[in-house]
Amino acid sequence: MNLLQPLWAYHDACSNIARVEAELSSTEAHKKFIALHTELTDLQNKKNKLSSILDNSNLALVSLETEYIDLERRVPIEIFELDKKQSLDDVTSSKINEIKNNLDELLHDIKILKAKIMKLAESIIKAQSQLQETLSRGTKVLRAYNKCGSICKEEADSKAPELKKLNEVKNQCAAKVSPELVKKYDRVRGMHADPLAALNENKCSGCNVSLPTSTVQVIEEGNSIVACDNCGRILYCN
Ligand SMILES: [Zn+2]
Repeated sequence: MNLLQPLWAYHDACSNIARVEAELSSTEAHKKFIALHTELTDLQNKKNKLSSILDNSNLALVSLETEYIDLERRVPIEIFELDKKQSLDDVTSSKINEIKNNLDELLHDIKILKAKIMKLAESIIKAQSQLQETLSRGTKVLRAYNKCGSICKEEADSKAPELKKLNEVKNQCAAKVSPELVKKYDRVRGMHADPLAALNENKCSGCNVSLPTSTVQVIEEGNSIVACDNCGRILYCN
């Protein structure tokens, strides 16, 4: 008996399962489900980013406003001080000028700070609006995602009996193959959808690499299982 024959039955069983699974993952509902999942992930990331920007901006705004209030409080004090000095005879004009300059600097700082606050407030309003849009879109997408998920589940449920039978067949076939070979086959299948490759003009039909004459001989004799050194596929002779 061909050494690979039990493996072929196992291979067919695995391929039948893969076919049904591929059918399930290629339905319109499943494709939409995957796309919605990606969009939801993107929206979640966007929401987190905007929330973080808003948290930091609000903290910065509080700090700027506190600074602004402090500066504003100083204005009447500085004006009072200026008036007082101006009313005194023994104060030099350079001292008066110094106080005036300080007041001008203070008013200038207040103006700059006010502009900063306005700019930050605008960016907060913009981020809040973007966050609102993101949340609103997220609600719609989540609703569609859940609906799509239900359809996918119905589709999966409808194929469940078939898959159960195919898995039983697979297990029966696996029992007829050595556990080592099943393990080897499963490992190759994890890498290649076509884990068995024919010997074709002394080449592996899977990766097209030329095989050593000694390897070709062993495959042709059919007394042992040979894998391609290059791609790992299990080789067979037609
Ligand atoms: Zn190969």
